[in-house]
Amino acid sequence: MENKKKTVTVKNLTTVFPTSRGLIKAANEISFSMSEGSCLALIGESGAGKSVTALSLLRLVPPPGRITGGEIILDNQDLLKLGSAEMRRVRGDDLALVFQDSLSTFNPVRPIGAHICETINTHRRLSNGEAKEIALGKMADMGLPAERVFKSFPFQLSGGMRQRAALAMALSLHPKLLITDEATTSLDVTLQAQVLHYLKKHLQDCCMSVLFISHDLAAAAAVADRVAVIYAGRIVESGPLKEVFQKPLHPYTEALIGSHPSFCSGTLEPIKGSPPDLANLSAGCSFVSRCSKASGICHQIAPVLQEAPTGHQAACHLLIGKVVDDGEVAVS
Ligand code: SF4
Repeated sequence: MENKKKTVTVKNLTTVFPTSRGLIKAANEISFSMSEGSCLALIGESGAGKSVTALSLLRLVPPPGRITGGEIILDNQDLLKLGSAEMRRVRGDDLALVFQDSLSTFNPVRPIGAHICETINTHRRLSNGEAKEIALGKMADMGLPAERVFKSFPFQLSGGMRQRAALAMALSLHPKLLITDEATTSLDVTLQAQVLHYLKKHLQDCCMSVLFISHDLAAAAAVADRVAVIYAGRIVESGPLKEVFQKPLHPYTEALIGSHPSFCSGTLEPIKGSPPDLANLSAGCSFVSRCSKASGICHQIAPVLQEAPTGHQAACHLLIGKVVDDGEVAVS
């Protein structure tokens, strides 16, 4: 297998929010790494910790939330050790974020081109002509009619075009890591497919990594090569996307797949119950109240992520002793 350079390694990243009911660990010892040209999908229900993870990577956690531990290694430097000025440079230069709502990304009274050129000029010493050339190039990469979109105001574009313009802006500085947070969620299926197509095409042509945050498994499957499933602030399963989606090891991943129309061949089964109260987590597995496979130990001891021979990891007591000789892992 081709040995690609690691772009980002996140180790035990923990972000907390103090509340009147206690400290909430919204991102709890999150670890993953990504290679250049790869796309990792971070999937899970709303409130699972996906967006907090994204904001933590950018060190933009809104107060009173704060990062209390871990490492974010990008290009051999730990972002958590950088000063504010250096971190501002890294954001934009090396890290970029695209949100769900591109309408709020752009000032409604300025043309799209002015936004992209301003972003470029904030980080690079280039002439206006050179900045415009980069902006037009990135818009063309996203399949946009570049000259027209450059002069257009945000409200003159469709949601899909606007989202691709937001991606063009994020990519204009060639970030090492692009984070998209539900970037295609508000689009209809056709527009979503367009955005994902151009994102994937760009990913194949360059050396960046993409952290694709979504609750939509079909969108994740269209663009990612690896997946991490997050539940109650913790990654509960991770590995190659095909492997995880075809042979999920964690009952939560199984339940997510079973509740998604694109993946479930039989009757759709909504995940019963609701996510736990993060201010009041019990000692055991955080999925225990919703898990049909729970046993006594699940109420007492929190499972930790462990490696299976299939090449992926899961945090579930069912894995212990259930890895059979041929490398298959049975959870049922
Ligand atoms: Fe279910 Fe127990 Fe596995 Fe948690 S550890 S997912 S409760 S079987």
